[in-house]
Amino acid sequence: MRWPFDNTYVRDLGWLGARVDPVPVRSPELLALNEDLAVELGLDSGGLRSPEGVAVLAGNALAEGSEPIAQAYAGHQFGQLTPVLGDGRAHLLGEVVDTRGRRRDLALKGSGRTPFSRAGDGRAVTGPVLREYLVAEFMHAVGVPTTRALAAVATGERVQRERPLPGAVLTRVASSHLRIGTLVLLATRGSREQLADTVEYVRARHYPDLAQHDPMALLSAVVERQARLVARWMSLGFIHGVMNTDNMTLSGETIDYGPCAFLDAYDPATFFSSVDAMGRYRYSAQPAMAMWGLARLAECLLPLAEGEPDALMTEAQERVQAFAGIHEEAWLDAFRPKLGLVRVGTEDRELVEDVLMIAKEETLDFTNLFRDLARVLRQEPTPTLDRIEDVPRWQQWRKRWLDRLESEGEPVGSRHALMDGTNPIHIPRNHLVEEALAAAHAGDLAPFAQLLEVTGSPFVEQEGRERYAEPADSDFTHGYVTY
Ligand code: AMP
Ligand code: MG
Ligand code: MG
Repeated sequence: MRWPFDNTYVRDLGWLGARVDPVPVRSPELLALNEDLAVELGLDSGGLRSPEGVAVLAGNALAEGSEPIAQAYAGHQFGQLTPVLGDGRAHLLGEVVDTRGRRRDLALKGSGRTPFSRAGDGRAVTGPVLREYLVAEFMHAVGVPTTRALAAVATGERVQRERPLPGAVLTRVASSHLRIGTLVLLATRGSREQLADTVEYVRARHYPDLAQHDPMALLSAVVERQARLVARWMSLGFIHGVMNTDNMTLSGETIDYGPCAFLDAYDPATFFSSVDAMGRYRYSAQPAMAMWGLARLAECLLPLAEGEPDALMTEAQERVQAFAGIHEEAWLDAFRPKLGLVRVGTEDRELVEDVLMIAKEETLDFTNLFRDLARVLRQEPTPTLDRIEDVPRWQQWRKRWLDRLESEGEPVGSRHALMDGTNPIHIPRNHLVEEALAAAHAGDLAPFAQLLEVTGSPFVEQEGRERYAEPADSDFTHGYVTY
């Protein structure tokens, strides 16, 4: 089969990576292949399924035109700068220009040691690989900018963690793997020319409408995309888990679904990651943490800007702080249709905050709460809302909401379709994901395939799939930890 590689990193940004091949695995076996994405990339899915294709997806063979690199980058991990991180278990096979003319990176994750592996083994465990596959494809299905999953391949090898676990390799597709940490590395260890050339590469690849040599404009553009991205996360109850600057893309796509998870009952203080002991990346902190990472980006871009240093510093700070306003607006834009609203109103923020406050105090399931609101309009049973104990308070909010809907001038009942198209009924619920991953570890891929299918049509109520819309029992949620 033909792989239409065109490798600009190798050609133009040689300093950004070490040329290194993936490390072969014992007995590759395809676990999942994303046919639609393959077509989009101009790849032949039959060829990908063939032993030759699977060998490439496992890192056992190189496709023609592939020039694998491990990218170098730095990263602020939980607030502390690690000066050199880089791909310790990933190989960027190359770039392809897809059928719509978009340049996409193809990378393996879990494909063996690289010069950036430090003490790590370069490998990935099947569970987390399949979690990334599921969640990335769900995010795509609900329209959130995200890296995609093209394939998962079992390696036939065990990976030593707390206990030996089955290994796998993920093929990840990204509009690019360039991160804030990429520029942090160049700003701290590279030459000015390398930094400038990389920044220009980012502009041309991701922000082609911006003028050249205007690093402050680029800063604002990344701020805007990140603010919009995080607002979408918030509207889905998504908790990324590890928003270090090496896990924040310059393209504005969600990347690195390591310890991510979704809110069950609404509580803004929720976090699940075992390594995030202080809850730095808890649900409610995500906007502030994104802004913190963007301030690190500003520090990288400042030396390239021309002007009086103090004035530039002030300008950069203002451009980073603009995050708050953009996020607020994007947050409202994301939550309004969740309530069936299409017009901007002055009291919208309060209306959303008040229903979230009810959700918190009544420990309502975040996802199902919004799904139930459309059922109110259809006068259908509302199992989640029926759990509310402070009924007068709820009635009061309900009246405000219905009055607000009424004020938009269209029949209130007509809004439920908008709501059902905005509020997913099927998300990769943590207990379902865990159930699917445990089955996969035991050799049964059926629950994973089912969950992938259900969450791939997130807005459609599916006959016989009711259990996928049910929250976990609270025992599960309270003890839940991601790794
Ligand atoms: P993360 O927090 O997942 O973004 O990873 C942080 C850094 O650790 C990155 O440089 C990864 O490449 C590296 N890393 C994570 N797991 C491994 C592993 N098993 N072997 C080698 N490097 C790893
Ligand atoms: Mg990472
Ligand atoms: Mg990770």
